[in-house]
Amino acid sequence: MKTFDEMIEGYARFRAGDWKKQHERWSQLAEGQSPQVMVISCSDSRVDPAQILDVDPGEIFVVRNVAALVPPYETTPGRHGVSAALEFAVQFLKVREVVVMGHGMCGGCQAALTQDLHGNDMGEGGFVAHWIDMLDEVREPIAAEHGTKGRTAERAMELAAVKVSLENLRTFPYVEAKETAGDLKLRGAYFAISDGVLHLLDESSGEFAPAQ
Ligand SMILES: [Zn+2]
Repeated sequence: MKTFDEMIEGYARFRAGDWKKQHERWSQLAEGQSPQVMVISCSDSRVDPAQILDVDPGEIFVVRNVAALVPPYETTPGRHGVSAALEFAVQFLKVREVVVMGHGMCGGCQAALTQDLHGNDMGEGGFVAHWIDMLDEVREPIAAEHGTKGRTAERAMELAAVKVSLENLRTFPYVEAKETAGDLKLRGAYFAISDGVLHLLDESSGEFAPAQ
């Protein structure tokens, strides 16, 4: 894998290629952004939503974090990064859709399942453990049915995490209000790294199926 200095060669290609080719687009973007879609995805280096969805700059407003999670609406002290990004996207940019995109082989979901980091000090896994403990409730039935190791259990956890985030999104009063009014759509998705297939959640059945 490349170092950042080596990636500067990629930047040179960008400046000579895409930046020049899309010059008109970039000059429009310099005036401001108006994406229609917000994507919440994992920080995992393999699941870049812009790459997977093949979109141009300015098209998706993205938040990435461990396991692509949205915490519930909380007004407790602390810095709420996801809440800030969501508020900006929905209330100021007025995006029309928020997509939660989970993925296969997710280390965050795996840790939620095994609870291996549980009880670790901050800086030693404690931040991750506390972040993913929002999956504790859905973990229980999965661990009881499939155990805590292996792809069946992991995939069940990864899919369940998308649903938890959608549920938590609906605890944000303005999200709930806009969804009810038909001004905002919430979507669940899952990118299976092993075969590169994007799955979409049908919330009425609770099933994920390959995107057509
Ligand atoms: Zn992940």
